[in-house]
Amino acid sequence: MSDWIPVFEAANSLEAHTLKGALESRGMAVQLRGEALSGALGELPMDVAQVTLLVQKRDWQRARAFLQEYQQKEKRTWHCAQCGEENDASFEICWRCGGGPKD
Ligand SMILES: [Zn+2]
Repeated sequence: MSDWIPVFEAANSLEAHTLKGALESRGMAVQLRGEALSGALGELPMDVAQVTLLVQKRDWQRARAFLQEYQQKEKRTWHCAQCGEENDASFEICWRCGGGPKD
């Protein structure tokens, strides 16, 4: 049997799936927990329902390190949709071309 250990609370299903894909592309198996609840909770907005990412015990430290880096990057920088330049979070438009962030 495999040991699944919670490694991260995603704010929503979209983030959970993004991170799951990122971890899987690095060779780590990922399970999501809590996602099914969002339908059952009904009246709650989707973005309130948290999704827990679980990884196998042997991958936990690697996954944790990746997720911490992801969180810090999310706060500090964004990527320009037009030129792909990395911008500091304090900029609202790209310093290089004046474009905006993706999404
Ligand atoms: Zn740009």
